[in-house]
Amino acid sequence: MSAEPTTDPRLRTWVDVPENTPFPIQNLPYGVFRWAGKAPRVGIAIGEWVLDLDAVDRAGLLDGIGVPPGTLLANSLHPLLGQGRPAWRALRSRVSELLEISNHEIQDQPGLAKRALIPMVDAELLVPIQPGDYVDFYSSLHHATNLGRMFRPDGDPLLPNWLHIPIGYHGRSSSVVVSGMPIQRPSGQLKRPDEPPRWGPTERLDIELEVGFITGDANQLGESVPIEVAEQHIFGIVLVNDWSARDIQAWEYQPLGPFLGKSFATSIGPWVVTLDALEPFRVPAPVQEPAVLSYLQQADRRGIDLQLEVALATPASPKPAVISRVNFSEMYWTMAQQLAHVTSNGTPVRAGDLYASGTVSGAGDGSFGSLIELTRDGSEPITLPSGEVRGFLEDGDTVVLRGFCGGGGRPRIGLGEVQGTVSS
Ligand code: CA
Repeated sequence: MSAEPTTDPRLRTWVDVPENTPFPIQNLPYGVFRWAGKAPRVGIAIGEWVLDLDAVDRAGLLDGIGVPPGTLLANSLHPLLGQGRPAWRALRSRVSELLEISNHEIQDQPGLAKRALIPMVDAELLVPIQPGDYVDFYSSLHHATNLGRMFRPDGDPLLPNWLHIPIGYHGRSSSVVVSGMPIQRPSGQLKRPDEPPRWGPTERLDIELEVGFITGDANQLGESVPIEVAEQHIFGIVLVNDWSARDIQAWEYQPLGPFLGKSFATSIGPWVVTLDALEPFRVPAPVQEPAVLSYLQQADRRGIDLQLEVALATPASPKPAVISRVNFSEMYWTMAQQLAHVTSNGTPVRAGDLYASGTVSGAGDGSFGSLIELTRDGSEPITLPSGEVRGFLEDGDTVVLRGFCGGGGRPRIGLGEVQGTVSS
């Protein structure tokens, strides 16, 4: 049982929320939204509502908690992220108090409940961060092994560095978009064996099921973040779909790694779930053998017991069908190790940066986080309920990623979903 009071399963809210909602009072995920022609602002999901934190702040109900004026009237979470962990915790604790069933401070102010609680269906959920830097890791042992077997069938599936370094690359921030944005099929250089390169739309459009973490201002240039305090700088996590054009990627990636086959779009969920909300679901991370270098060693390596799934809909089969399920707790490298590694050379990590986990895959069939694994590079297409088959994505296909912790007696802590439809 967690000592974090905001996650107490006995907490109830006066807000009308459905049973088994992914957004109970124990969750309180942050997003940015717009409604009724007003300027973008920070909100918190509670059941099927969005709590307008700027409205609550203007009513004086956040006075004295150390969140400066204007922090919550913003088109991103960055001003809040820049405040650091004490302010994050104070705000979460105060919102939990205001929404708790015995508290009447919001309802006691005439019109405030109506002004501050917006039906989620009426809110336009915006991209919650505009990352200055976006890094994509490669931290699933199963995913790295599966891809290694596919691309290097004769050798060791893992390259010699994989068990020693949280492998990653710097991604593209300008194309990080929020769930619901259409994904245009990218064109690029394609090359079949024994043919010259040509230009055209990708024929192998894929997804990558990932979970990203979002940071505060962690360190100055030249400083590094010790692993034992790394999580102090992590605000929360978000669902990520790292769309990938496998044919563009295959031709361009040597010797410097992923480039245009990845940079055309990365979708993230609208809701950022805080590490505080996830505290009851922290579990020991997999044992690492061989031992890692000391700057990556941590006394209490913790993952997150987070259930993830991938669903696919097509114009002929519009109800999303689940094609994969996997648990995030199997990730080999933890968020703390990733952050300690990123900063180990003294590079600054800033508020609103996005660090994606890499494709989350399990050991068995049906637990893979990409189509290239699920269909063995397109050679064993999956069959959908409509009878249609897919090796890779076709125009009009919609991919939905979902994630949640809990169930079985504990309140569900949902990340919501991230979805995108492929256009030509
Ligand atoms: Ca990726």
